[in-house]
Amino acid sequence: MSDCPSRKIIFYTEQEAKEALIRIHVKYQNSSTRAFYTCDQCGHLHLTSSGDMDNTLKQAQQAGRIDQLSESDHWTRKLS
Ligand SMILES: [Zn+2]
Repeated sequence: MSDCPSRKIIFYTEQEAKEALIRIHVKYQNSSTRAFYTCDQCGHLHLTSSGDMDNTLKQAQQAGRIDQLSESDHWTRKLS
């Protein structure tokens, strides 16, 4: 695994980055993390709280998927 001088978490594929974005929003619904970008320093992807909101995240929010997932997360924790 390579490191980045920015000390941010590295994602190697857009899929990974998008999943992480959604997971963050399930956990922290008022998270300011909203998109990912390609890093100049390591050439991989990092999450960011600036810029336009990622389309996948936007769609998930509009479809209520974030709420659904956080609800199921809530129950999973309660039952385990
Ligand atoms: Zn980087």
